[in-house]
Amino acid sequence: MSTSILRAGLALALLAPALPAVASSPAPRAKNVILFISDGASWGTWDMASYWQHGAKGLQPYDSFAVKLGMTTYPLNTSVTPTGTGLPQISYDPAVAWDTTPVGPPNHFRGYQYVKADYTDSAAAGTALAAGIKTYNNAINFDDFGNPVPFITQRLKAEGFATGAISSVPFTHATPAAFGAQNISRNNYHQIAQQMIEGGALDLIMGGGHPWYNSSGQARSTPGTTYMSVAQYNALADGSAGWNFIETKADFEALASGAISFAGPLFGLARTGDTLQANRSAAVAGADPANPSGVAFIGSVPTLETMTIGAINHLSTASSKGFFLMVEGGAVDWMAHANNTGRIIEEQVDFNRAVAAAVNWVNTRSSWDETLIIVLTDHGNGMPMGPDSHLVAFQPIENRGQGVLPGVRWHYGTHTNENTLFWAHGVGARAFEKRVVGIDPGLAAILGHNDGRYIDNTSVKSAILTAMRVPGAIPEPGTWAMMIAGFGLVGAGLRRRRALAAA
Ligand SMILES: [Zn+2]
Repeated sequence: MSTSILRAGLALALLAPALPAVASSPAPRAKNVILFISDGASWGTWDMASYWQHGAKGLQPYDSFAVKLGMTTYPLNTSVTPTGTGLPQISYDPAVAWDTTPVGPPNHFRGYQYVKADYTDSAAAGTALAAGIKTYNNAINFDDFGNPVPFITQRLKAEGFATGAISSVPFTHATPAAFGAQNISRNNYHQIAQQMIEGGALDLIMGGGHPWYNSSGQARSTPGTTYMSVAQYNALADGSAGWNFIETKADFEALASGAISFAGPLFGLARTGDTLQANRSAAVAGADPANPSGVAFIGSVPTLETMTIGAINHLSTASSKGFFLMVEGGAVDWMAHANNTGRIIEEQVDFNRAVAAAVNWVNTRSSWDETLIIVLTDHGNGMPMGPDSHLVAFQPIENRGQGVLPGVRWHYGTHTNENTLFWAHGVGARAFEKRVVGIDPGLAAILGHNDGRYIDNTSVKSAILTAMRVPGAIPEPGTWAMMIAGFGLVGAGLRRRRALAAA
């Protein structure tokens, strides 16, 4: 891509607020919102799973969603503690992100080099999604001054909605924590567990992190207490914490089939020390050549798909007002860190099936006039691209057919600051299009994702609250108040640049 096209895109980006808005019909409110987060999914991760599942792109349920955007994910700064300044230090520049100027190994191209720097972690990204603010990495609904900030499920609970958060990794991990806790650090797992259990923001929690099982679902004689304490487990299991509690695969499946149901809050702790399947031992699980990794699945934990169906069954009857559910494919990120092509496909396929199950629920039990589904990732991870992507800039994943591992080259072992993929469908989905902050030509020209429009992760919360017609201070983009607020931000940025120049 020529730099002139990129510059044109930047010019468009500056004009973005003036783009014609999609007609806003007086739509009914979103009674239910299901937010799917594939944690750490670079563009190639979505493609890999589609090639394995279908031998083609474009066949996932979200591929036909009405709204397709990009989403920037950068944090306020990359400090791991509050800086006390609140000053934005990071941004995203499409003109550099897609720059194909060779720079030699290990980065190969200037664009690759650029998105490898200044990336968010899942805590700052989760805070952006749940609380609508940029913050430092490690923050769970804390701002850069070290103060707790309100988050979406608190607000929705106060409005009478039922709320839930489920994950394929420990329930206290950063992303689910951002929907049920406030903490200065994501690593304070026991505090986060206590806040999620006692804090009142969630009616339903599901995930791993069981103290009495290992990563392969085997019982332990000594507990693993990284993610929760034995006392916390005991209080859930004996009912004294005030939650209904399930942990066997059979109970998760009975909840999903409707054979069992519960009144009051429901906690589902899968019998695994961390991930549902991603971290299982090949020696314990044995072989299964039908799986992308060649390793059999363990039989003692539910799938994310099963958990999702069960969670919807529970939440959809918990409040007549409606519900909000966050579903995280958390282990997608773990397998991206490991650059494990087979296992990341397994995780993303389970995530895709969870989305498909929710879409099926809307089509058969609800409707798109009362339910909104959002599919996104909190950040890129690993930069999986085509086998020759060290020579050919942004070469896409190579499709080798359904059920065959695609051609992949990984470029990084951690997160990236790439512009990510976003989909939404159902009542209120257009609220996201009103929050477009720019045009990224690479999304259209290189990924073929959409027309290049993108939002920032901090606008997801307000779009959801707008779609749900939650009253309060939610300025509708496109209004003079919003434009004045925008100029204020630009002014703040300029003031900061001057301050840095003076320093
Ligand atoms: Zn990660």
